[in-house]
Amino acid sequence: VASKQKTANATGLETFDSYLPAGVSVAELTSVIEQYNRDERVDGILLQLPLPAPLDGAAFVRLIAPEKDADGLHPSNQGLLLQGAPAPRPCTPLGVMALLDVAMSGIALGDGTTLTDIPKASLAGKKAIVIGRSQLVGKPVSFLLLERNATVVMAHSKSPDLPSLCRDADIVVAAVGVPNLVKAEWIKDGAIVLDVGINRLPSGKLVGDVDYESTAKKAFAITPVPGGVGPMTVAMLISNTVENCYRRNGIEIV
Ligand code: NAD
Repeated sequence: VASKQKTANATGLETFDSYLPAGVSVAELTSVIEQYNRDERVDGILLQLPLPAPLDGAAFVRLIAPEKDADGLHPSNQGLLLQGAPAPRPCTPLGVMALLDVAMSGIALGDGTTLTDIPKASLAGKKAIVIGRSQLVGKPVSFLLLERNATVVMAHSKSPDLPSLCRDADIVVAAVGVPNLVKAEWIKDGAIVLDVGINRLPSGKLVGDVDYESTAKKAFAITPVPGGVGPMTVAMLISNTVENCYRRNGIEIV
């Protein structure tokens, strides 16, 4: 949350914060969300999940005005994603796609080159596997890959023979939450690997879902953990908020 606020302010967005106690009532949380829905200064509303029990996070996300949804998690926006229609998309999947574009373009960022200079890669003819089928990451990133014409395998905890499914893929997205699950032997030479997982080992070290050291030697490109997909999630939150502002004001998004 601190990083989201810091980045928002650094990019010139004004932020409004409501820190509520864990025991907040349904009525109070509802009223806070409705107040931001009505506030004309606000273009992006983010409800930081998960909520403490017994509050139902999904029920409160449904209260956010869809046109102010900064996370792309409102059911209307998820439906529009399924239809391929414009709407805010979930932030982590957008971050994965942006990093994939960077890897496929071969263009280095920095020295004035920014993400907006990177062309959107055609994924026609590419095979992708997404490991994990969560509402937050796995499902939406699968649809974003499909939108770009990749052939997508959606794998999960009940999928048999994950290693051979992975070996067939040009693009591997791991969004599981199991440290170092994906091994170098599972990866086709030259594949692009996007590691969404953030797992804390008993030693305190943060690792992804992919065994980074060995896989980096085989992959064409791989995202590190920390410092890969995580910061992109924050960047896409800002991007979604700006795009919401454009849409709400009838400005064309190019
Ligand atoms: P989740 O627990 O909601 O979903 C995990 C998915 O992995 C499930 O669909 C499950 O079927 C699948 N799975 C579990 N064990 C498996 C196995 N052994 N083999 C294959 N599939 C298996 O998790 P989530 O919210 O999608 O998050 C996944 C990971 O990504 C977590 O480590 C989380 O911390 C991280 N995450 C990172 C960011 C970011 O900004 N980088 C954002 C969201 C989540």
